[in-house]
Amino acid sequence: MQVSNRVKDLPPYLFSEFQRKKKKLQKQGVDVIDLGIGAPDLPTPQFVIDKLIEEAKVSSNHRYSSYDGISDYRNAVAQHYRSHYGVELDPDSEVLTLIGSKEGIANLVQAVINPGDTVLIPDPGYPVYRTAIHLAGGVSEYLPLDQQNGYIPKFNLVPDQVKEKAKLLFLNYPSNPTSATVGLNTFLEAITFVRDNHMLLAHDAAYDLVTFGEYKAPSVLQVPNAKDNAIEFGSLSKSFNMTGWRIGYVVGNKTIIKAIATLKSNMDTCQFIPIQKAAATALKSDLSVVKENNAVFQERMEKLYGALHEIGMEVQKPKGTIFLWAKTPANHTSIEFSNMLLEKAGVIVTPGTAFGPSGEGYVRIALSVPIGRIDEVIDRLKKLDL
Ligand SMILES: *Cc1c(COP(=O)(O)O)cnc(C)c1O
Repeated sequence: MQVSNRVKDLPPYLFSEFQRKKKKLQKQGVDVIDLGIGAPDLPTPQFVIDKLIEEAKVSSNHRYSSYDGISDYRNAVAQHYRSHYGVELDPDSEVLTLIGSKEGIANLVQAVINPGDTVLIPDPGYPVYRTAIHLAGGVSEYLPLDQQNGYIPKFNLVPDQVKEKAKLLFLNYPSNPTSATVGLNTFLEAITFVRDNHMLLAHDAAYDLVTFGEYKAPSVLQVPNAKDNAIEFGSLSKSFNMTGWRIGYVVGNKTIIKAIATLKSNMDTCQFIPIQKAAATALKSDLSVVKENNAVFQERMEKLYGALHEIGMEVQKPKGTIFLWAKTPANHTSIEFSNMLLEKAGVIVTPGTAFGPSGEGYVRIALSVPIGRIDEVIDRLKKLDL
């Protein structure tokens, strides 16, 4: 059977190789610890589950949701932006329910670019931007990020011909995979850059609430008049441990929100109403459960960060996300080092090159296992004599 070139030409799924090796080692009795999974391992908060159960019993909730999402949920998103960021949003025209932000990212690209159009994406960055652009027939241009600059873009180094062609720019802070965070001044620069160059900025805020200590991640919409040139994606997946529920949102520029909504109304009919109601309850809560989760991830991070430091691995201490981004020791390539960790220590990490060419020389370590398993990882790493 024939399949489309766009599907055929998608890059092979890099993690499947590691999963195959993982199964093989497990069959041999190796206790494999998987720090490659980019999702929280903690359970969804009980009050959110309770709300789902309650709403699932209401028969009027079993019908189609409105395409844009129920107003309860869109109002909760707007209320969250007001109380958390001091940003006013019109819940009817500036908020759209998404079936997870990954869906929204893919549909945004389809909604705003034509085949052949250029999109600027972070390198290293979340791989979905690149594949979404490929599926829409667009051209990806990397915005190189480096450790020296804290993985913050140097907009003045973007070549003129790229600036002229690009229609859309993706950013993601707190970042997957680098765990880099920014202050509002970076978003101010980004907004100035897209305004001067007639682009749209799409900020992916999947980890906006997953932060440590005093650090609070800004919203791009806190920049004055940002709505003229920007949208922001949000998700309950990471902040409320709801990856499987598939619930997120996009907020900001009305014209773009409308375009995504129009496209989506021809593809899906939004999320199950009880899931939207439960998510609204989560967003309207005092966020104390999010703080408790963050404390769990921070404890794991501090422990592993300290141990890696002791071993002599180069790693920055993050202010958010569920990842450590570490330089490979002894000039190993990302793939070599990841393979060695799996074969000699039974530990899976993700090679940095899975996130773009600038990820070479780094690995992403997810903090998605209990503290006891982190201790075990540390023991095994110490024995490796890196
Ligand atoms: C997990 C993740 C997403 C997708 O989240 P969903 O809302 O579950 O689709 C988007 N962007 C980044 C950077 C992520 O890490």
